[in-house]
Amino acid sequence: MNFINGIALDGPAGAGKSTIAKIIAKRLGLPYLDTGAMYRAMALCALSEGVSLTDAESVDELLRRTDIQVAYLADGQHVLVNGADVTGRLREEEIGKGASLISKLRCVRDKLAGMQRDIAHETHAVLDGREIGTFVIPETPYKFYITATPEERAMRRIRQLEEKGEKSDYESILGDILARDYQDSHRDYAPLKQAEDAVLIDTTHLSIEEAVETVLKALEER
Ligand code: C5P
Repeated sequence: MNFINGIALDGPAGAGKSTIAKIIAKRLGLPYLDTGAMYRAMALCALSEGVSLTDAESVDELLRRTDIQVAYLADGQHVLVNGADVTGRLREEEIGKGASLISKLRCVRDKLAGMQRDIAHETHAVLDGREIGTFVIPETPYKFYITATPEERAMRRIRQLEEKGEKSDYESILGDILARDYQDSHRDYAPLKQAEDAVLIDTTHLSIEEAVETVLKALEER
């Protein structure tokens, strides 16, 4: 199959999209692009430079003097900011919240979405994000919207934290998830939204393997 223009997997945080996207990419022999990592890298960069995540002018100025690159190493995708590999810090909770804030800015989104579009067109990658099918590569016919109830996503997050030996509190995790959903879906520019022609997959009661099979079957049928 020839997935010209790339494959888009969108949806809210914790719905399983990145796990599903990685498996799909591997099975199809295509690169996987975690677009959230690029927003996280930009948030980390602003935080370490003392630039306010909501100040469009300062962030725009920061963007102009910042070189962001995505590299593929044996263990997967890495993000380099001005040549420094920042991948190890990107999953921190504060960085995720920062990414959700900085990604509201049009200047950030235009720069990163432009890079993502080029990667998708050049490599036919599998991209996961929030607005890949509506904004980054709306021309692709291969679009999926992966979701799950906020309660189920909170439980998954708790299990992840428990595996790492970290303490967690259901109510505060659920609150964070709802706040992030609201912020991502209510921003003015390129919000989280299901594309009209996307295949909807609710993973609340699906295993990862079942969700992967659903995506692969839909891709064959397109
Ligand atoms: O997917 P991840 O949790 O890494 O994304 C972090 C944040 O980056 C999201 O909450 C969202 O605000 C932003 N993001 C985005 N567009 C994308 C990917 C991520 O706005 N394509």
